Amino acid sequence: MTQSPLTTAKSRQYFARATQVLPGGVNSPVRSCQAVGVDPIMIDRADAAYLWDVDNNRYIDWVGSWGALILGHRHPRVLEAVEVGLRYGTSFGAPCLPEVELAELICHVMPAVEMVRMVNSGTEATMSAIRLARAYTKRSSIIKFDGCYHGHADSFLIKAGSGLATLGISSSPGVPAELTRLTISLPFNSLPAVEQAFKKHADEIAAIIVEPVVGNAGLILPAPGYLEGLRALATKYGALLIFDEVMTGFRVAYGGAQALYNIKPDLTCLGKIIGGGLPVGAYGGRKEIMEMVAPSGPVYQAGTLSGNPLAMRAGLAQLKSLQNPQTYGELSRNTQRLADGLKEIADKATIPLTVSSITGMITLFFAKSPVDDFSAAQKADTALFSKFWQGLLCRGIYWPPSQFESAFVSLVHSKADIDDTLTAAEESIAACCE
Ligand SMILES: *Cc1c(COP(=O)(O)O)cnc(C)c1O
Repeated sequence: MTQSPLTTAKSRQYFARATQVLPGGVNSPVRSCQAVGVDPIMIDRADAAYLWDVDNNRYIDWVGSWGALILGHRHPRVLEAVEVGLRYGTSFGAPCLPEVELAELICHVMPAVEMVRMVNSGTEATMSAIRLARAYTKRSSIIKFDGCYHGHADSFLIKAGSGLATLGISSSPGVPAELTRLTISLPFNSLPAVEQAFKKHADEIAAIIVEPVVGNAGLILPAPGYLEGLRALATKYGALLIFDEVMTGFRVAYGGAQALYNIKPDLTCLGKIIGGGLPVGAYGGRKEIMEMVAPSGPVYQAGTLSGNPLAMRAGLAQLKSLQNPQTYGELSRNTQRLADGLKEIADKATIPLTVSSITGMITLFFAKSPVDDFSAAQKADTALFSKFWQGLLCRGIYWPPSQFESAFVSLVHSKADIDDTLTAAEESIAACCE
């Protein structure tokens, strides 16, 4: 790599301290930048589409807190909601109006969600959703898909995406084999694989859980008819269909992937965007199923900080700010402009690049062929990705530090931000070819 023009002395110093007291120096693996061969920069502050590190370098941020910040950092309406919330109190441990308002908004926007339970993370949402599905169907097994990530609960750490794919550990030690046996992981985009599993394990499968648009193996789109097929198979075999829309909810469309593809899942998991940058998650669905959750039913699930008033207020402010009818058209056009520009640059340099994109999300796979499942994603050239990523970083572009993640376009990325990113990408690709 050419010498970075950035000074990152303080980042290096603080990160060295971090590694003494935090495993790998981080509180979530993919932040570590291990996969792209560098130490992470330490962030000091952020505003709109930008991050500043502790050495005062500015970066255009294409991570956006992993998708949560669709309005960018410190959006005035979100900040104001949190400031007001602070004056009312940070946590009550008792019911409050903001949690009702956020639940009402979600149920209104997603017709498949008739009732919802707020939790503190996407992980909590998915692990609670499968507990509920198991209770409702009185069955124990679940189907998931290779490369999908549903948080870090035991049942999902089997051929999982995100940080596990990045670190090449796609399944985790510490998960009991007894539990692993209950998770069937199948290739994404193959309906025959799902039908076969149902035939083999009739009456055992409680649910199919899927990222309807996969964002955690890098971005992988569902083939035409695939989600419809999952819906039909779940119904046919008496299993629930769970859409994990922690990433795609309020991003690929206001109503999420279920609105975009017009599919009604039985349960939906949410997180990220619905918290406006504060810790949040939620799971919801048909009333008849959700009424099994305690205290209206016997399926136990609780949380000291669940429905936290600050998180609810931040989420509400963010979701209301997205209601402008221009929002998703603009987000889609910006994503497309970035995707087209990057593809053009790679083509000019004759570097094999598959650009995968959908409204608000984009992955650059350094691969020749289209990427329609995890095994295709794994064929991408991760060494080239690392070089390219380092080239971006030293030019002030903060791209997700993994081949197996999606970048997130926000509503505050300007045309200039996109142009600056394309210029940096062109230079970085040229440096990679040297
Ligand atoms: C981020 C993510 C999760 C986990 O959410 P956390 O808040 O990190 O626990 C689950 N599912 C999907 C699809 C995600 O993108």
